[in-house]
Amino acid sequence: MSGCLVCGNNIEPFMSFGQMPLANGFLPEERFSGEYFYELSVAFCPNCTMVQLVRQPAAGKMFHDEYAFFSGTSAAMAVHFERFASRVISKFPASDDPFVVEIGCNDGIMLRHFADAGIRHLGIEPSENVARAANAKGVRTISRFFGEDLARDIVREHGRADAFLGANVMCHIAGINSVIRGIKTLLKPDGIAMFEDPYLGDVIEKTSYDQIYDEHVFLFSLSSVQYAFAQHGMELIDIEPQTTHGGSMRYLIAHKGARNVSGRVAAQLKTEDEMGLNRAETFDAFRKRCEESRDALKTLLSRLKGEGRRIVGYAATSKSTTILNYCDIDSSLLEFISDTTPIKQGKFSPGMHIPVRPYRDFVSNYPDYALLLAWNHSEEIMAKEELFRDAGGKWIVFVPRVRVIE
Ligand SMILES: [Zn+2]
Repeated sequence: MSGCLVCGNNIEPFMSFGQMPLANGFLPEERFSGEYFYELSVAFCPNCTMVQLVRQPAAGKMFHDEYAFFSGTSAAMAVHFERFASRVISKFPASDDPFVVEIGCNDGIMLRHFADAGIRHLGIEPSENVARAANAKGVRTISRFFGEDLARDIVREHGRADAFLGANVMCHIAGINSVIRGIKTLLKPDGIAMFEDPYLGDVIEKTSYDQIYDEHVFLFSLSSVQYAFAQHGMELIDIEPQTTHGGSMRYLIAHKGARNVSGRVAAQLKTEDEMGLNRAETFDAFRKRCEESRDALKTLLSRLKGEGRRIVGYAATSKSTTILNYCDIDSSLLEFISDTTPIKQGKFSPGMHIPVRPYRDFVSNYPDYALLLAWNHSEEIMAKEELFRDAGGKWIVFVPRVRVIE
């Protein structure tokens, strides 16, 4: 029994994925013996409806200076953030000197559009080397954790903000109440917070349990986000569904009563009620589907391997760590994982220790099957890898269900 991170209610896990290493903990062989593990279990709070990890690895274990993720490297995401930035600019109240703050701004992939437009901005990025990269691109960035204290410091130095932004970062922060108090302190009376994260509705609908890993402390829904902000006198005023990360939701938040609430909020809350996102039994059913998916994937890979087929993993993603460890898939089933990120090549996957090799190793000797570990980019990837299929290669996917694509 532990306490809900949002409302303090007692919560119990509905599912455990067992002992799990850090999702982004790709490691060299000499570090196998000291590898860090924790139990990955998930709970639904019947009071505030938030779905959350029951415990998290210490923060210092995750966002350290070796943190390998630079969002600026993905072309598709660059376009996504350019559009996000224009949406924010379109929402500005009549301010002649607007001020925008983004947490988890990474290397400035979104804020640079504000910097280019001459708009006052401040990025907050906990990883110092990533923050340095942002500053080098002319995006003003500081390396601190956001909460009420930092919000007060920012207001003192820059005044209150018109917009507070976050993309794939709010769901990472266990101290969400401190962040919300910070947003309340930071925003002007008519200011808006806009943030987006993977959406619980998509995870449930697609059984995409690989969205559950250490960095994702919360899986947000409208009802849980609405509750979390209402506790602090703030209001969910609108939503904008996104296709990124296998299905995300963008939430728009304002001080209570400051702006009109869109009819989209009530409509999507009704959909959530129909999906059962606010009821415990939905998550028991989800756990059973995860178990079935795990058994089906393990059975399929073992059968193909027994028939002498070569199987390779495609893309050494953070989210693949949950799948590979929960399904007990090691290098006896997957020969290696192909990845284009130089920092991961030559290392091994967290927990299961499958070698990560350069992309050219995939291309130069196509396997019979490729397990697609980045299913959320399947269209792009399958289009890029036409030659693999022409050579007789087949894809194995596991979302929304385990199957072979010939
Ligand atoms: Zn709660």
